[in-house]
Amino acid sequence: THDIQIIGGGLAGSEAAWQLAEAGYCVKLSEMRGSGEMTPAHHTDGLAELVCSNSFRSDDATSNAVGLLHAEMRAFGSIIMREADIHKVPAGSALAVDRDGFSAGVTAALEAHPNITIVRERVDTIPADGPVIISTGPLTAAGLAESIGAATGSEALAFFDAIAPIVHFDSIDMETAWFQSRWNKGEGKDYINCAMDRDQYAAFHQGLIDGEKTPFRDWEMDTPYFEGCMPIEVMAERGFDTLRFGPMKPVGLDDPKTGRWPHAVVQLRQDNASGTLWNIVGFQTKLKHAEQVRLFRTIPGLENAEFARLGGLHRNTFIRSPVLLDETLRLKARPTVRFAGQITGCEGYIESAAIGLLAGRFAAAELAGGTLAPPPVETALGALLGHITGGAEAESYQPMNVNFGLFPPIEGRTKKADRKKMYTDRARAALEEWVAATGGRAA
Ligand code: FAD
Repeated sequence: THDIQIIGGGLAGSEAAWQLAEAGYCVKLSEMRGSGEMTPAHHTDGLAELVCSNSFRSDDATSNAVGLLHAEMRAFGSIIMREADIHKVPAGSALAVDRDGFSAGVTAALEAHPNITIVRERVDTIPADGPVIISTGPLTAAGLAESIGAATGSEALAFFDAIAPIVHFDSIDMETAWFQSRWNKGEGKDYINCAMDRDQYAAFHQGLIDGEKTPFRDWEMDTPYFEGCMPIEVMAERGFDTLRFGPMKPVGLDDPKTGRWPHAVVQLRQDNASGTLWNIVGFQTKLKHAEQVRLFRTIPGLENAEFARLGGLHRNTFIRSPVLLDETLRLKARPTVRFAGQITGCEGYIESAAIGLLAGRFAAAELAGGTLAPPPVETALGALLGHITGGAEAESYQPMNVNFGLFPPIEGRTKKADRKKMYTDRARAALEEWVAATGGRAA
């Protein structure tokens, strides 16, 4: 008998199991790898396998949002961070790990824990009773994905991530770009516009065609993409003017410098409630990341753009969390079911583990007969959770790495160089207060 079942022993499920077990609860962890099943991206039977890069990105907790997240997770006794620190390899200011040693370390720790039972099995339906955490990741097996679709309404499950690049507002040159909606509709100022003349457009068009792209993986080839989320370079290949009749359409937009419609326009749309992040409309792409940065910085007004995330297009299973989940990651329609990890719409190893950590702690608090208030949005954990459970626009909800654009903006005028430290100082203070108020177990 167990107190709670966790489905999926990846980054999130392993962390959630550890948090619950450490809190004294008996966990059944169901993982399909090791039972003759495999996902298209995994290669081993180890728990918390890293499917691609071996990096957990920056470990700098004073000026980087993901470094801050590392520090917050260490404070809560994270097994993922413990094993990452043990198995780290030299990578400058980043935290990179020996992937085999790391996965073996997590697996051994969970196997040795008296409160954890690992069962190698594929689960095909959401268990009917008892608390469960679903952390089956971006490549959730088909049967369970269908069961989740049925429980959430099939439209609630996205299979293809068409990601347009997202830019930090304070890196946009608003002397060159301007606020206006097409034909002055709505508030009249809902978009940020960047004008191009014919030469600039021609160079940009050629850049899209020549740019180096990431190929689709074999198992992605048969996933259809719809006209609505076609990569921008595919549109460019269809004809010189295709983009000018699509996402770069200039009609109804008056360049304040000339008073006329430009040859082409790149539009950005607000991406979060506080207006710190803006996405480039219709610019989902398979261009390599470095190529995107180079090419998109040729757009007038975006010469110094800082990207909160770059564009992409890949298979990914995730639910529309902002409408489906409550603030402690429970399915509103069925509160015994919690979600964790990338299936909730965060992105990345460490973000997935962080949401696993929170799901484990929320569940443990509930098993103890209480509730745990979500961490404040000023912290990295709270900002990431806020993105998932409420911050983002539900319609355009897309997976995202942790970044300072998800935090409430720092009020008043500040020097850009000081701002990152202000974010992290504020986060540390907020986390301490939360721990004091909730009796959290900061190590
Ligand atoms: P996972 O780590 O995928 O764990 C889910 C687990 O659930 C798996 O072990 C799986 O076997 C199991 N499972 C699935 N269905 C069932 C079922 N029905 N029953 C039982 N078990 C099941 N992130 C980065 O930070 N850096 C990268 O370089 C990177 N590259 C990526 C490349 C690819 C091709 C993909 C697909 C993703 C990549 N990601 C990367 C994202 C990364 O996979 C996730 O951020 C992270 O692994 C998600 O953690 P998770 O615990 O949510 O899911």
